[in-house]
Amino acid sequence: MTPEQLEKKVKETLRKVKLSKKERILVALSGGKDSSVTACLLKKFGYDIEGFHIDLKIGKYSKECLASVKKLCKQLDIKLHIYDIKKEMGSGMCYLRSAVQSKHKKGMLKNCAICGVIKKWILNKEARRLKAKAIATGHHLDDEVQIFMTNIFKGSPELSANSGPISRNIKNKKLVPRIKPLFYVFEDDIREFSKKQKLPVNYDKCPCAIDSYRIQVRGFINTLSRKEKENIMKNAEEVLKKLKSKGSEIQYCGLCGELSRKRICKKCELMR
Ligand code: AMP
Ligand code: ZN
Repeated sequence: MTPEQLEKKVKETLRKVKLSKKERILVALSGGKDSSVTACLLKKFGYDIEGFHIDLKIGKYSKECLASVKKLCKQLDIKLHIYDIKKEMGSGMCYLRSAVQSKHKKGMLKNCAICGVIKKWILNKEARRLKAKAIATGHHLDDEVQIFMTNIFKGSPELSANSGPISRNIKNKKLVPRIKPLFYVFEDDIREFSKKQKLPVNYDKCPCAIDSYRIQVRGFINTLSRKEKENIMKNAEEVLKKLKSKGSEIQYCGLCGELSRKRICKKCELMR
């Protein structure tokens, strides 16, 4: 895929999510290729963006991610907000995660799942505090196929009900909409684009990403052709239109006040 074709695809997705160029968007920047390409394109297309990075304090890996994010924001001339997890939550992600795992049944809670819940909680809360109209993430087609298939394998397709280039179903003043401009783009094309554009990116994987089930599903998806992955996405979109997420009634967490499907939100359930 040429850079022009990739840009065209992303523009089409942005048209679909009806994103206004006047509204401030927070781009969740991990320091990796996907979110860096997301920021680069949104800026190029004239959107009003700022960067938001959660410094997870996972040793050398986090230091390199932070350095990449700082370079990128300088290059794109955008403001960067840094959330230092140690300062805000008392410890780095490795410690927070071990504490959660030691309280719950061993092996039940995977690293990426815990980290994902905490990051999502931070992102929504901080985006609201910063009065952003939307949060953009770097999720791409391979990610989405993986999430959808994982939920199918687990027998819970309804867990994907909110997936899409824009989070739908739930409209609530406390929820900042999440958009995924790279939703229809393959990971390989993003990698190639980021290299051609020479974006300051950390290509290393997170050293904690050792969730065997996720890796297993990812391994299976990597054996599929592009056509097959696209077909899964098309099917997913059709199926999900008809699905309502399980217990989609929204409440506010009794401990932190954030949106929750249950009396206590997932993050507080893990960390209390
Ligand atoms: P992942 O679940 O790690 O594949 O990340 C998915 C998306 O979440 C990335 O493309 C980013 O937009 C966002 N993200 C992940 N890690 C961070 C981080 N440390 N700080 C800010 N955003 C992040
Ligand atoms: Zn909570």
